[in-house]
Formats: sequence, C-alpha cells, structure tokens
Amino acid sequence: MEIYKGIPVSPGVVIGRVFVLDEVRQRIPRRTVVAEQARAEVARFDQALESSAAELDSMRVQVELELGAEAAKIFAFHQGMLRDPSLSAPIRARIERELVKAEYAVAEEFRALSDRFAKMGDSSFSTKVDDVWDLERRILRRLVGEQRSRLQGLDQPAVVVAHELTPSEAASFPHGKVVGFATETGGRTSHTGIVAHAMGIPAVAGVARLADHAADGDEIVLDGDRGVVILNPDVERVASYRRYIERMRVFGLSLDELRDSPSVTRDGVKIALHANIEFPREARVAVENGADGVGLYRTEFLWLTSDHEPTEEEQYEQYAEAVRALEGRPLTIRTFDLGADKGLGALATDTEPEQNPFLGLRSIRYCLSNLPMFKRQLRAILRASALGPVRVMFPLITSTTELRHAKMVLRDAMEDLAEEGQPFDRDISVGMMVEAPSAALMATTFAREVSFFSIGTNDLVQYVLAVDRTNEQVANLYTAAHPAVLMLLKEIVRAGRRQGIDVSVCGEMAGEAEYVMLLIGIGLRSLSVSPAAIPRLKRIVRTVEIDQCERLARRVGSFDSERQVLAFLREQVRTIIPEAFDGRAVEEP
Ligand code: PEP
Ligand code: MG
Repeated sequence: MEIYKGIPVSPGVVIGRVFVLDEVRQRIPRRTVVAEQARAEVARFDQALESSAAELDSMRVQVELELGAEAAKIFAFHQGMLRDPSLSAPIRARIERELVKAEYAVAEEFRALSDRFAKMGDSSFSTKVDDVWDLERRILRRLVGEQRSRLQGLDQPAVVVAHELTPSEAASFPHGKVVGFATETGGRTSHTGIVAHAMGIPAVAGVARLADHAADGDEIVLDGDRGVVILNPDVERVASYRRYIERMRVFGLSLDELRDSPSVTRDGVKIALHANIEFPREARVAVENGADGVGLYRTEFLWLTSDHEPTEEEQYEQYAEAVRALEGRPLTIRTFDLGADKGLGALATDTEPEQNPFLGLRSIRYCLSNLPMFKRQLRAILRASALGPVRVMFPLITSTTELRHAKMVLRDAMEDLAEEGQPFDRDISVGMMVEAPSAALMATTFAREVSFFSIGTNDLVQYVLAVDRTNEQVANLYTAAHPAVLMLLKEIVRAGRRQGIDVSVCGEMAGEAEYVMLLIGIGLRSLSVSPAAIPRLKRIVRTVEIDQCERLARRVGSFDSERQVLAFLREQVRTIIPEAFDGRAVEEP
C-alpha cells in the first residue's frame, strides 16, 4: 500500500482501477506488465513501428515533391533505422524478458543507441544523436496516442493517472468510463479540476511522482475530499473507505430534502445561490440542485471540445439550450475566457506559446484583438437573450478602456441584429468579472459602468499574491484567506453596494464551507458555485444569522495572517455548523 498526498480539486471518493496516461517526456517511468500481457505490448510496439514508417513515407513523398530528392534524403536514415532489426529486436526482447511496457523498452533501447552514437567520436555519427531522438519521439507519440484512443474504448470504469492533463483532455474523457483522475501537476483552482467538477467526478492534483509509480490495473483509492491517493490499499483501508462512501451517500440524500427550500438565513435574508457551469447540460443539474440561476457560464469550454471555432449558430444552440433548461432563471454568459491554462482550443495551432500566459494575450484581451470572433459570440448571446433572462459578462477587465471597448463591440452587435430584424433583449444586463487587482482597486469607477460585478477569486488570488493557481509547487501559498485578498473583497462589495449594483463571488472560494459565513458577513448576498455544492451551501445559509456572520467577519478583519484567518474560520464553522463538512468531521476514513 502506498499513500500519496496531493491537492483536493474535485470532491468525492472512488475506489477503482488505474489507467495510466503517459506523455512523451524526458523520462518514461519503468512500468511492468503481467506475463500474459507481454505479447500484447510487443504487438503495440510493432503497430507503432509500422505507423511511424507509414508516416515517414508520406512525409518523404511530400518533401520530395516540394523540395526535391536531395532534401528528402534526410528521411532515408530514419526509415533505414526503423527497418533495422538490430534496433527493433532488442526492444521486443526487452519487453518479453523484463515484462515491461513498450514505452519503457523503446525509451531504454533508444537511450543505449544514442549513447553508442555519441561515443563514436566520429562527428558524422555523433550528429546522428538528434535523429535518434527524433525517431524515438515519433514512436513514443504513436504509443501514447494509442493509449488515448484505448481510453475512449474502455469497457470498465477507470481512474486516470497522468503527469499532467489539460482541461480539454479532461473534457474529452468518455462519459461514465473515467470515474476520477489524479495528476502530478496542477493547483487548487486549475481548470482541469474545474472540468472534474463539471463531470461530477473526484480529482486530486499535485501528487508528486504518482504517475511514475502507478501501473495499469492497480487498485486505487482516490479521495477528492482530502486530496489523498492510495495505490494498492490494504483490505482495512478499502473497508473503511467503503463505509465512508456509504455515509456520504446518506448525507447527500439528507441534503436532497433541502432542494425546494428557499436559500434564506435564519433571520430571513435571501442569499442567492447560483451555479457555475461549463456545458449547457449542467444547467439542468443546477436547477435540480435548487440553483437560483447560473452565475457563470464558462463558454470557452465550447472551444476545448471542438476542432474549430464554434460558429454563431453552434453557439446560439448551446446558449439557447441553457436558457431553456433554466426555465426563467437568469443565465450569466461570460464571453470567451480563452488562453492561460485553458489554452486556445482550435486556435492554438496559429499561435506561438507565450512565456507568461497568465499575463499574456488571454481572456478579454484575446477577444478584443480578434473582433470578428468576439462579435460572433456577442451576436449569439444577444440572440439567446430573446428566449429568457440572459446577462452578459466580460472576464479579466483591467482598465476602463478595455471595458468601454467591449461594450462598444456589444452595441455594434446590437445594431447589426436590429437592422436584420432579429429579436434580442435591448436592456440586457452587462457585467464584469472583478479578478484583476486593478479592477478591484478601481471598483468604485467600474461600478458606475456596469450593472453587476462577479468576483473571480480564482484569478484575483493568483494576481494579488503572485502565486500561479496551477502550480503545485506553490500551492501552499495560494489561499483566499490572505488578509490582502479579504481587504480587496470588502472594498469591491462596498463599492458595488454604494452604486446599488449586484455583487457576487464566483471563484471556488464561494463553494468552500469555511468561507460562506465570512462572505455573508462582509455583505455578499449572492454566490455562484458548482451545481453539486449548492445543497450544502443552502444548509449553511439556513443555519446562520446575518448578525453572527458580521461578527465573524469583524473578527477576521483583525487578523494579520492567512493562517490565523483560516484556523479561526475552520474552528468557527465546524462549531456552528458541523454538518457543513459533509459529515467529514464526524469520522475520517
Ligand atoms: C475566477 O477566476 O475566479 C473565475 C471564476 O474564473 P475562471 O476560474 O474561469 O478563471
Ligand atoms: Mg478567472
């Protein structure tokens, strides 16, 4: 039994079997297989060899056509090597002798080969080292690509273990087949974790060296509530986790009863609970869980599951589906928040990777430099606004110039639609995310120019504290409990209130039990969280009084360190509402 500690990024616990998704990276870990699987591994290798040869062949033909026979000769060496049994035979032999996976045998034999070339002294041989590398990557890419397609055809549920997963990889996992995942990289609010939330499966990030030690078929306990991963657990551990899963199921049923009760405090103040969604089908789940509407629809996820820019019509269909599912509740559509860890989806091939993507051409900046694309989205949103209450929201606003520019494009889109005679809501609410320190500091100015604020604490925390939200190495520094973050939150709420606009929090912080009383105490009356978190939040709201929350917030305001804040909040919330922790406080597995 091996126990690993990571960062919990999506709640829930599963016990299952590992499926390792490798990457073509510097070092391929040594992974063994059982004797009966060796033959299948050899077959995988032969298949990868064959398709690499076919790929080289078509590249050679192409280069010969475009650049002539001389240039095409560079492929001759590669092809010669692929056909050379003195390369392939030792790889097959190693798989069968050591009972290892094909990827590992390939990496080891190629390493030995490039060492031999490098030692030959003769410069014509040592320059071949790069070619050897190139060929190795080509074969490994085939093997790893084949893993991904095998994942699509899984016949049993699996827990995916990987060094790293992009949000789009996670979003394309086959539904119902992948029941959880764990990665070596990633932080508390990275978008890959947010995808796990949307899929309703547990996930743990930042688990050092897990992918090196896990093997396909290993038994695994994935504990997304505590951020723990156990490989090959002993029977007692499995039994106690099974009891825990059962207790959680019963706890979930008790929350179901709250579905139709209003979200009001004991002294009768309404706290609106909205949902964060990534896909329109989640709007229904939000309603089923008792949401008052959708406070954040992350439309960029449309790109991540598509191989082209979604057309206006495709977007309209998706937005319309969400509006209909909400049956009159408001839908807050955020314009594309592409870039940074979410990537650029189908646009990625046209762009150079950035040095500092979180400070780069992301989000509203990307949209404002691709106006036709931006306008297509705004048209689709406006058209959907004819079907039910829709609000439009701009992400990562950092200056009034940016906000005014975005609003101007929106007005343009309105004029075009009006000319075409298309129906839309002329009084559509326009809001912005407050997630950059500049926007937070200028909240009073911005409050005069929009009809609502939604505070994106996921980004706000990373920009205020200078801590990358996706980097597991600094995850211990990433916390919304930092007094600097709390001071800004208070200011934003105050500025919004003075101007009489709606202010909400839609970062992950809003769904974490320890922060709810504090957020109410500093004046928030609206929160937006993952659909699954709504019943638990409602339970908390219905247990507390405004006065009590305000007292708690005043006390928190007197602390000068995030540790004090967090320790105090945990202690208070556990005492006042122990059940807020899903019964987790009752008995640890
Ligand atoms: C945020 O930054 O808090 C937020 C809600 O947006 P995202 O997580 O998509 O960046
Ligand atoms: Mg954000």
